[in-house]
Amino acid sequence: MLKLSHAVHDILKKADDFSEITRDEALKLLRLDVNSFENYALMFTADNMSRKSFKGKGENHLHIGVNAGPCPFNCSFCSLAENAGIFTKNVDFSEQEILAWAKMAESKSADGLNIMTTGTYSFQRLLEIGRLLKKAVSIPLVANTRDINHKEGEQLLEAGFAGAYHAIRLGEGRDTPFKREKRVHTLQVFNDIGLLWMNCVEPAGSEHSYEEIADLMFLARRYKAAYSGVMRRINFPGSPMGIYPMISEQEMAKMVAVSRLIMGSIPKAHCTHEPHTASLLSGANLFFPEVGSSPRDGKADTEKGRGKGIEDCRQIQKEMGWNPDLVSNVWK
Ligand code: SF4
Repeated sequence: MLKLSHAVHDILKKADDFSEITRDEALKLLRLDVNSFENYALMFTADNMSRKSFKGKGENHLHIGVNAGPCPFNCSFCSLAENAGIFTKNVDFSEQEILAWAKMAESKSADGLNIMTTGTYSFQRLLEIGRLLKKAVSIPLVANTRDINHKEGEQLLEAGFAGAYHAIRLGEGRDTPFKREKRVHTLQVFNDIGLLWMNCVEPAGSEHSYEEIADLMFLARRYKAAYSGVMRRINFPGSPMGIYPMISEQEMAKMVAVSRLIMGSIPKAHCTHEPHTASLLSGANLFFPEVGSSPRDGKADTEKGRGKGIEDCRQIQKEMGWNPDLVSNVWK
């Protein structure tokens, strides 16, 4: 007979009531064996929470990386880092290309457009792209760029952005040159000015402790992320992080489930990246199809590399009982 321990049963029961679980409880769940009955019960609980809260909606927010090039910030997990040696010249995708991707997304019923830039990309140029897209398509825009202050946040809003993707990365300050406090301050800017904050706990790899992972999951709850799932680190060819194994989709699905329990009644969706089936049974309902540059790819246009298209993402969701044709919950 398969049985849950009292401790795991009580945590799952609490989460199922949308009550907040503690850090110790989250750590207990993160330490479950992925092949255990208890892990499947955890995934079921997270899945059930999301199917109730998000009413069966499968979300697709198209990532458009508007430029590729050797970024001097040299985050060690990023294929766009100068030190990775993959990109030696700058590639700026043209307005025509960006517009064509946005219109394609609209024709395929995407629910959001995440506009990503590398670390030194012109902020003014990002604002121009926002204004251009705002006029051309009706899909809500999300900026994924550097740390900003209040004035720059207001400018993003004026340019037509409704939200901002901004992860405090696992290994921030160790695998990146950025100060964690400054990254967290930017979250406060979003909350102060009314930009929705979008997040993933990322880039999760075998080098991260469960404590570090849990802390970022709770940060997302504290700052009320609109969504906060899990993305794993990808070992692109020649990655300096290649000495550490990538985590499996099975392990990622467990983390997605724990993060879903932690977020409780706060999120409007729950993401995972890259798109795969397992996490759609453990609380995730949001995928990021991708075009343009990607920090996980050696190709300047990830559409021709690792990136999954919107049609593929929609199909995976339908197979797992999520309906991508319903209205998005993120912008309500
Ligand atoms: S993650 Fe961003 S800031 Fe860091 S190297 Fe890559 S593009 Fe530059």
